[in-house]
Amino acid sequence: TPLILWVRRDLRLSDNPMLAQAAKSGRAVVPVFILDPETESLGAAAKWRLGLGLAAFARALEGIGSKLILRRGPALEVLQGLRAELGAGAVHWARLYDAPAKARDTQVKSALRGDGIEAQSHAGHLLYEPWTVQTGQGGYYKVYSAFWRNVKTREVSFPAAAPKTLKAPENWPASDLLDDWQMGRAMDRGAAVVLPHLGVGEGVAQTRLADFLDGPVMRYKDRRDFPAEDATSRLSENLTYGEIGPRSIWHATQRMMHEGSIGAEHFLKELAWREFAYHLLHHSPHITSRNWREEWDSFPWRGDNDDAELWRRGMSGEPFVDAAMREMYVTGTMHNRARMIVASYLTKHLMTDWRVGQRWFEDCLIDWDPASNAMGWQWAAGSGPDATPYFRVFNPETQAKKFDPKALYRHRFIAELASPPGPDARGFFNAVPRSWDLDVPSRYPDRLVELSFGRKRALEAYSVRGTAA
Ligand code: FAD
Repeated sequence: TPLILWVRRDLRLSDNPMLAQAAKSGRAVVPVFILDPETESLGAAAKWRLGLGLAAFARALEGIGSKLILRRGPALEVLQGLRAELGAGAVHWARLYDAPAKARDTQVKSALRGDGIEAQSHAGHLLYEPWTVQTGQGGYYKVYSAFWRNVKTREVSFPAAAPKTLKAPENWPASDLLDDWQMGRAMDRGAAVVLPHLGVGEGVAQTRLADFLDGPVMRYKDRRDFPAEDATSRLSENLTYGEIGPRSIWHATQRMMHEGSIGAEHFLKELAWREFAYHLLHHSPHITSRNWREEWDSFPWRGDNDDAELWRRGMSGEPFVDAAMREMYVTGTMHNRARMIVASYLTKHLMTDWRVGQRWFEDCLIDWDPASNAMGWQWAAGSGPDATPYFRVFNPETQAKKFDPKALYRHRFIAELASPPGPDARGFFNAVPRSWDLDVPSRYPDRLVELSFGRKRALEAYSVRGTAA
C-alpha cells in the first residue's frame, strides 16, 4: 500500500532520512504538503518565501518521477481523507519542535494509529534530537558553552544521498494549485524588492555552502560581526525550510577543519547555537511567549507604542538601528550583529517588551525560525537563559564605530545619508506600505531618544525591580 510523506520544513532530496527510507522501501510514495492553520498563520515574509520553496521542491520531486500534492485544511482531516482515497497504509513525517507543532503531531499520530495506520516520525531538522543531549544530572542545558562542550565531539551520522527515483502511485490524487493559495498575499508590500535577495531551493543552498567553504569561512572568525561584509553563509534562509540539512553542513565543514581552516570550527559553533535554541524550545516551550526567567514578569516593559512604531519603520534616528531595520525590509534578513543591536535598542533604550520585536521579526524575516528568534530576543532583553546581563546595554553608536567603521552598511540602507543613494537604500522606500506615507525624506530624522538618557532610564527601572546584579 502507498506511503504518504507529510512534507513540512524538509524541502530537500538529499540528507533527508525520511525520504531515503521511503525510496528504499519500494512502496509507492505520495508526498503531500498541507496548508493547515499553523502554516496559514506564518508571518507575511515567511509564508511568501515558503510558497517559493514549495514550488522549487515540487520541481525537484518531478525530477525523480514524483510530485508534490498540495492540500488545505486541518492536518489530521486532510491526512485521513487522503489515506482513505489512496488506501495508504502509512504516514511518515520529519519532526518539528515548537509547542503547536508538537501538539498537532501527537494528536495526528495517536489518531492514525487508532485507525490502524502506521504513523512514524523521523529526525532530519536537527543534528541532535533535543532530548538526547543531557547534563550529568539528566537535565537540560541552560548555558550554551556547556551544551557545546557536550555535543562538539559527538558523532553525526552521514547525510543520505538524494534518491534517484521515487515510486509513483498508480493514480495521483488531486492537488490544489499553489497559485490559488496566494502565499504572498500579505507580502505585496515589498515582494518585488526582496526577491533579488533570495536564494531559493536545495541547489542554491548547496552552492551557498560550497561558496562559503571555498573562501569566506577562512575569515569567518574575524569578520562575521561586520555587517557590510559578505562574511557569513546566509544559510539560515535555507535551513529554516529544510532546503539544506544541518548534517550536510556539519560534514562539509568538518572536512574543512581537517584541512586546517580556523574559521570552520567557529562556524560549527554558530550552527550549534541553532541546536541549542531547539534544545531550549523543546525543554522550555514557554520561551516563545513568556519571560524565560519568571522574575522578569514584574519588569515595567512598555507594550507596543509610538516609539516602537518608528523603530519598525527604520525611522528612530539611530543610524545603525535604522540601517538594520531597513535591511530587514529590503532583503528579508538582517545581519546577526545588527539583530543584537536593534533588539537591545528596543528592549533597553525604548524599554519595550521583547515580544513586540519578536512579532515584527516574525512578520518580516524570510529566515524566521521559532527557536532562534525567541532565544535571540530573550537573550537581548536579558530575560532568557544564558542571556546578556541587563546592565550591559549595547550602545549603537559605539557598535557602529566598531563594526561599521566606514559607514558602508549605514549608507547602503539609509538613503538620506548616502549621496547618491544606492539601490537598496532606494528599495526601502519602494518596499514600504503606502499606509506609512514615506517618501525619500531629504532629512534624516532626529534621534528618538538620547542614548545616555535611554540607558539610564532602563537601568533605573531595572534596579527598582530589585534584581540588579
Ligand atoms: P552564519 O553566521 O553563517 O551561521 C550559520 C548558521 O548558524 C546560521 O544559518 C544559523 O542557522 C546558525 N546561527 C548563527 N548564529 C545563530 C544564533 N545567534 N542563534 C541561532 N542560530 C544561529 N536566526 C534564524 O535563523 N531565524 C530567526 O528568526 C532569528 N532571529 C533572531 C533574532 C534575534 C533578536 C537575534 C539576536 C538572532 C536571531 N537569529 C535568527 C540568529 C542569527 O541572527 C541568524 O541565524 C544569522 O544571522 C543567520 O545568518 P547566516 O545564515 O549568514 O549565519
